[in-house]
Amino acid sequence: MKWKGRQRSSNVEDRRGKGSGKAIAGVGGGLGLIIVLIITFLGGNPEDLIGNLGVTDQSNSIPYEETEQEKELAEFVSVVLADTETVWTEIFQENGLQYIEPTLVLYTNSVNSACGTAGASVGPFYCPGDHKLYIDLSFYQELQEKFHAPGDFAMAYVISHEVGHHVQTLLGTTEEVMPLRQKLSEEEFNKYLVRFELQADYFSGVWAKHAQGMDLLEAGDLDEALTAASAVGDDTLQKQAMGYVVPESFTHGTSKQRKSWFYKGYENGTIEGGDTFNTTSP
Ligand SMILES: [Zn+2]
Repeated sequence: MKWKGRQRSSNVEDRRGKGSGKAIAGVGGGLGLIIVLIITFLGGNPEDLIGNLGVTDQSNSIPYEETEQEKELAEFVSVVLADTETVWTEIFQENGLQYIEPTLVLYTNSVNSACGTAGASVGPFYCPGDHKLYIDLSFYQELQEKFHAPGDFAMAYVISHEVGHHVQTLLGTTEEVMPLRQKLSEEEFNKYLVRFELQADYFSGVWAKHAQGMDLLEAGDLDEALTAASAVGDDTLQKQAMGYVVPESFTHGTSKQRKSWFYKGYENGTIEGGDTFNTTSP
């Protein structure tokens, strides 16, 4: 992606090196709400993600010492965020809506959000409660090494997917889907979650289409995003982790679904066509 020297977003909150301050005490009563609200990039059991991390408060006065690579990555995600602001502001305007820009929080190890405390093992996530995207930049390394999805545009896909969840929140979809968790069996709710996640992939593709229209893509970028979308499919992740697949437990969709909804968004470039809930497409 052509990003060097371009406009960066002013909506980046750098909390690297600061720890989460305090861990949430007691994994009891209030947790239900937290689980409902946190939207993680990768599946996994939410109870593994939130809770007592035993993190101690580190001094806020020491600035985080970033490596050259981390510095470059932080710049990169900031430029991508700015591009999502440009694109979604325009698309919302065309639909008579107003886009409210989200904040991107960079953190290391663990972080407090309105959705609870999370460790980096959660992977990137979005919290509808505070309109913030949370990412530990070490995920870039993970994309390359663990998911075999290298390249800057793989990371751009991750950011724009999380921004997709923000778009869903502004459009009211998050508010419609999340309460179903209380009403449905886990298996039934997972089906909705998959459609919800596929829509975030679709919106990510919508953004990529506009980025291409702004002549920001380089050869291979689209493939990097498609490879990443495929790499984080539930079936692929489960096969790697357990050696087998449990479709009832899918929360994000198969590799094929994720790839194809991203690509649909890329082809259309509009909100229209992204109703992953009422569709005959897989
Ligand atoms: Zn997601």
